[in-house]
Parts: sequence; structure tokens; C-alpha cells
Amino acid sequence: MVKSVSEAAGIAPDVLAKYEPVIGLEVHVQLLTNSKIFCGCSTRFGDTPNSNTCPVCLGLPGTLPVLNKRAVEMATRASLALNCTVHEHSRFARKNYFYPDLPKGYQISQYELPLATGGWIEVEHGGAKKRIGITRLHLEEDAAKNLHEGFSQSATKAYIDYNRCGTPLCEIVSEPDMRAPEEAYAYLTTLRQILLYTGVSDVNMEEGSLRCDANVSVRVRGSQEFGTKVEVKNLNSFRFLQKALEYEIERHIGALEGGGRISQETRLWNQSANRTDSMRSKEKAHDYRYFPEPDLLPVHVSAAWREEIRGALPELPEAKRARFVASYSITPYDAEVLTTSQALADYFEAVVAAGAPGKSSANWILTELLGRLSESRRAFADSRIAPAALAELINLVESGKITAAVAKRVFATMFDSGRSAGEIVAAEGLAQISDTSAIELAARDVIAKNPENVAKYKAGNEGVFKFFVGQVMRATRGQANPQAVNDILRRLLS
Ligand code: ADP
Ligand code: ZN
Ligand code: MG
Repeated sequence: MVKSVSEAAGIAPDVLAKYEPVIGLEVHVQLLTNSKIFCGCSTRFGDTPNSNTCPVCLGLPGTLPVLNKRAVEMATRASLALNCTVHEHSRFARKNYFYPDLPKGYQISQYELPLATGGWIEVEHGGAKKRIGITRLHLEEDAAKNLHEGFSQSATKAYIDYNRCGTPLCEIVSEPDMRAPEEAYAYLTTLRQILLYTGVSDVNMEEGSLRCDANVSVRVRGSQEFGTKVEVKNLNSFRFLQKALEYEIERHIGALEGGGRISQETRLWNQSANRTDSMRSKEKAHDYRYFPEPDLLPVHVSAAWREEIRGALPELPEAKRARFVASYSITPYDAEVLTTSQALADYFEAVVAAGAPGKSSANWILTELLGRLSESRRAFADSRIAPAALAELINLVESGKITAAVAKRVFATMFDSGRSAGEIVAAEGLAQISDTSAIELAARDVIAKNPENVAKYKAGNEGVFKFFVGQVMRATRGQANPQAVNDILRRLLS
């Protein structure tokens, strides 16, 4: 197990408890468009470096940007799903700074008038639900990707892939509403799921289509004012987000307890050393000299277009969970797992539509199907069991044609072979044995072979009854009707 930061730093739990963390996240999301935000170049991931470029995204003098309508549509979709107010008029601005991944010397972003403001999402953490505010969502262009040979400190060569330059991004800034690393984790998970459901991004942290910067400060519990915040960049996984926050919170508390102060700065998560390192202090921070982008008209999202986009939103995870609980009488936990992805949720509903009861459909999917998929390290999309095939199996159990024990074996065969339940049951002679004389024969045999247990049972040891049931089920390869086994054993043993 990884040693927690508090152990490492040696801060006592009661000292930690004196402070309250305050966290706000800034999340960059690549929008799923075919072409870039201001030119016609492809946004495909993994193409030959620098093959998807043109004079516009390479920032050559004399070129002019043309806004991709689809990027505005996607960002509007995301804004609406995040309960934001989408403004009819917003504006692009130039954010000026020099870096080799930014050939124009400025990034086209939105500043004073962002596309959307004032949203929220509901996040569950520790059994409680909480609204986390979303300050703003704005559109901007991505920069190129830098690749370093060797580690950054000792890099001998740097490569730049301009394919990513000009990819549409939306930046989603949260309010400083989170109070624990786990809450930040839950926020990012919920946000990611909403963006996935709305189809605005593939939100893949490994490929960089979802990137997160965390702002964190601490204050003495009960205090109204926020402490000095630090921004942590380079958090390319959920785990790093949580670890970096834990590390920073304890670093802040350690400094304050030692009579020091926190300086406002940007830090980087150092994954090999398990700590954050200072990157630049806020005093030396850039003055970006924002000004309105003169080459682009203000962005106009009419009320009609906005409502059209709203109308096309799919059912969102939260609503789907509530509906699943209400209409299929499943637990909130089951509903949460079943709505992890739309594909899984659709599969569940298709099994029910094919005639299986909701509760048992949920059980079969959550325990057997997901269990076997994870055991065999296969993705849900690779499952060979069609919804109707699972419904058929469930109904064979519900109607008493096969026992629950046999059904699990049939399921395993279906999972490996793709054959149908009915076919497997017929071919392997697995139908439930309700013929009481066959069960009685097996029961008499088990009793005859276990005189000691019979004596125990007769002496009042009720627990041993389960042993007899188990033995008879085993003798009938799990196919005997469990109720009949019980009745017959009780009669023969009394
Ligand atoms: P900056 O001007 O430094 O970019 P912003 O006010 O724009 O700061 O906030 C950036 C992010 O930092 C937001 O997500 C916000 O919620 C968060 N934030 C602001 N103040 C604090 C604070 N004191 N502690 C933690 N997070 C904060
Ligand atoms: Zn281009
Ligand atoms: Mg800011």
C-alpha cells in the first residue's frame, strides 16, 4: 500500500482536522469535431505528426480564422447539460504569450464574455449529495503537443506536433465548492460522465482529451475567508488528482502550523517522486494582455438554436438513475453501476424489454456479466450475450425450468460460446429435476452414506440440514428442484 502523505509528513490527525480544504477545478475538454476550431484540418488523434496542419493553424501571417459552428454547438450542448446559462452573445479574445507550441504568439480564447456561466452539477460523496457550482464554460483552441526526449530537466531534444494545434477545447471552471480530495474526484467523475453521455468529447485522460488543473487552499474550520491557493497542473489521471490534492493539503497545513505562509504559485505533480514541485510563482505570472480578437465576429447563439440543442440532449445520468430506481425497483447502487455508460444502461433496458424482470436482470448483469467480463479482461462491447439471450436464460430460471445453480453454469457456457441458453440446456440435459422419485433416490443414498450427520441432526443440530441439501444438489448436478429437495429430506430425516 502507498504510504499516505500524513504519515510521511507526520502531521497528527487532530491537527489535520483543524483545517478545511477548499478546492476548485479547471477542466479542459477536447470537443469531438471532425475539423479544428478555426480551419478545416482534421482533429484525428494519432495521425502522423504535423500531417494535419495548414497556414491557419500554423499561424502563418495573413491567414484568418473561421469559426467551426460544430464546436460552438458542442460547447453549447455541454453548457446546457451542466445547467449553465448560455449567453446569446459571447466573444473571443487573444491571450498573448510565447511558447513554441503556440505559433501565433497568442491563443484564441474567451475571456470577459464567455459562452456560458452560472451552472452546477450534483455530486455524490460519502452517501450525501452536493451541488458544485460551475463558474463558466468557454471555448478556446488547443496548443500543439510538445514531446521531450528524456525527462524535462535533462531533455536533449524537443519535438512539436502541430496536429493538436487548433483542436477545439472547452474550459470548464468550477466554483471553489469542494471540501475534500474525494469530493474533487467525485466531481470530475460526474463531469466526465455527463460529457460522455452528451457526446461532446471522448473524455480520455490518457489521450489528453480531458485535462484537469486543481486549485487548492486550506483554512481553519469555521473561518469564512479562503486561504491562499495553489494551482496544480499536469494531473493526467484521477488518481494523480487525488494524490496531488492530499499532498498539497498537508503541505499547506504543515507550513501554516509551522508559522509559515503559503505563496500563491503554480505547481506540477511529479508522479515519480509522489509530490508537487513549484513551477512558477504568481508574482512572476504572465500578464496575458487579453484583448478582443479582431479577426472574429462575436459568437451568436440564438434562443432558437440554443433550444434546438437543448431538445436534442439525451437523458442524463442523474435522470436515468432516478428513472431506473423508480421503474425497475432496483437499488440506487445498482442503478448507479448500470448507468456507468449509456451502452450498459441500454443493454439493461433491452434485457427487460425482452421480457425479463428488472431486479433479476440487474442482478445477472451486475454479478455474472460484469464479473465475467472483468475476470476475462474484456470490454463490455466484446460481450457475446445479446439482451434477448440473457432474458431467455433469466426466464428459464424464473419459470423453474432450470435451477439457479445450473443457470450460472449455462451462463458461463453462453459467455464463452455465444450459444443460446435453451440450446445449452437441451444439449446437456440440464433441465430441472422435479421428478420426486429421482430426488428421493438421491436423498436416500446421501442419508445412507452419512449416519453420523443423521445422528447429529436427530440430536437437534439444525445446521447439518444444509449439508444434506448440498449433497443432494451435488448428486443431481445442481439440477434438482430446491424446494422438492428440502421437502423430501425433511420427511426422510424426521
Ligand atoms: P485565477 O485568477 O488565479 O485564475 P480564479 O478566481 O479564476 O483564479 O479561479 C480559478 C480556479 O480556482 C477556480 O476553479 C476557483 O474555483 C478556484 N479557486 C479560487 N480561489 C480559490 C481558493 N482560495 N482555494 C481554492 N480554490 C480556489
Ligand atoms: Zn489547419
Ligand atoms: Mg482563472
